[in-house]
Amino acid sequence: GKVISAEFVKTATKRDEWPLEPWPEIAFVGRSNVGKSSLLNALVRRTGLARVSATPGRTQALQFFKVLRQDSPKARPRALALCDLPGYGFAKVPQAERDRWAAMIEDYLRERKRLVAVVLIVDARHEPPESDREALAFLQAHGRRVLVAATKMDKLPKSRRFAAARGAALALALAPDDVVPCSAVEGTGTDALWTRLGALVKE
Ligand code: GDP
Repeated sequence: GKVISAEFVKTATKRDEWPLEPWPEIAFVGRSNVGKSSLLNALVRRTGLARVSATPGRTQALQFFKVLRQDSPKARPRALALCDLPGYGFAKVPQAERDRWAAMIEDYLRERKRLVAVVLIVDARHEPPESDREALAFLQAHGRRVLVAATKMDKLPKSRRFAAARGAALALALAPDDVVPCSAVEGTGTDALWTRLGALVKE
């Protein structure tokens, strides 16, 4: 499959700003600086679609993108929406602001009807920290389908990558298939992620 087009749609800080178009939606969550924007850009093969942050923790709104994607050369293009959520766990943000973000993100993850899957991005190099486990538990508690993208795999020697992905699955109590090894730098993992997401969008 391939991405035919990708465009920014809008930002939203409250519910009545969520897009009304009926496309199936996929949300991306992760700790600040984990590599979420880079992975989004790799998924749509564009640099700068989702802003790669020089200052972590700066994206304070939900950002919606529209993607047209073809499963195969002859298939009809399929529209879907991607939602980039603000990164969590950025310590330098005042507590009141953090609470506002949390409420905004949680409302969306709980209430958004057309949300078919959530991609939780984790750092392949480290055992998932408490904040990642909490995010996963929250998503599962609300019945969300979660795929984990273990990114920055390029920072590990090739011989350790498989074990790192397996380790993340084990640590998060997920099936091995639900953890997809990725690297935005190498551009790896994006096809595998699309294959999984494509199947979920069709369900
Ligand atoms: P975000 O805050 O989660 O959106 O993270 P960014 O996409 O802005 O990336 C944070 C930092 O990690 C930047 O310096 C990126 O260049 C770097 N980065 C992101 N993805 C990768 C990756 O797959 N491999 C490596 N080596 N660095 C990455």
